[in-house]
Amino acid sequence: MNATAGPSVAVRTVLGDVDPAELGVCDAHDHLFLRSPRLPGEELDDPAAAEQVLRAFAAAGGRAFVQWTPAGMGRASGALPGLSRATGVHLVAATGLHQAVHYDPADLERRYAGLAGFFTAELTTGLHGAPGGVRAGLIKVAGDYHGLDAHTRRVMAAAAEAHHATGAPIAVHHELGTAAPDVLDLLCERHGVPPRRVILGHLNRHPDLRLHRELAAAGAFLALDGPSRAHHATDHHLFDTVAALVEAGHADRLLLGGDTTTRSARHAPGPTHLLTALAPRLAREFGPELPHRLLTANPARAFAVAWRAVPAGADS
Ligand SMILES: [Zn+2]
Repeated sequence: MNATAGPSVAVRTVLGDVDPAELGVCDAHDHLFLRSPRLPGEELDDPAAAEQVLRAFAAAGGRAFVQWTPAGMGRASGALPGLSRATGVHLVAATGLHQAVHYDPADLERRYAGLAGFFTAELTTGLHGAPGGVRAGLIKVAGDYHGLDAHTRRVMAAAAEAHHATGAPIAVHHELGTAAPDVLDLLCERHGVPPRRVILGHLNRHPDLRLHRELAAAGAFLALDGPSRAHHATDHHLFDTVAALVEAGHADRLLLGGDTTTRSARHAPGPTHLLTALAPRLAREFGPELPHRLLTANPARAFAVAWRAVPAGADS
């Protein structure tokens, strides 16, 4: 691994800060571990299964994997460094919170106090539940279906504060792909986060291509996900969504991820499919440079940060 004590601009992995040029082929949105009361019996909680996913991904040429599972959803922070060492895959972990439905209400009330400080500490000092110095590299937040409720607005305000303190990118779950304009309005217009630091997830679940072009033109990254058995409607138009954005000149704004959220979705080819099926097809249609841009060059920019607010001694 190429973890170092701290290049000035770096991707923050669970094993340390990595030069963005060394990140490599990246699944920019996925999950090794995830638990929600909304998905009973579908928990991703098995380290051996996670290791298999990473080994298959690495065998197909994958070098980096970004887990968007936020706090309180079984993200298994403590298991990530060992998995990264065992497989040689860079792992980037998330702080942040999902929609309120994924939490016990009393737990949420406790979390609301000092939320921005909690996010900042997980980005600069260490993830709750992990050995010291194992830090998050992004902040995950979520919107609602065609809007934002009080909870999601509160979490996004805290995420923006943590972004300003650290420089970390903010990655957004969009419910069925909706409400991205509301998200950019809140994070960027109201809270001053630069659009290029916002990664909009799941947009191809709502394939409004004109809107996608507007969001890319605003400067945000669009993380398109699939294939996934859990969200298979996405698969039908993933290639066309990518093609429409590339043809409109937004190839530098696109990220790809498997977004495996359930145990049964693991039976789909997931992240490996991005490399073995989608990338060759993109190369045939748009030339050999495009897979490199979408899977390597763009993630290296999206997750690279000139990290701020790193307490002395926080780097191991
Ligand atoms: Zn996800």
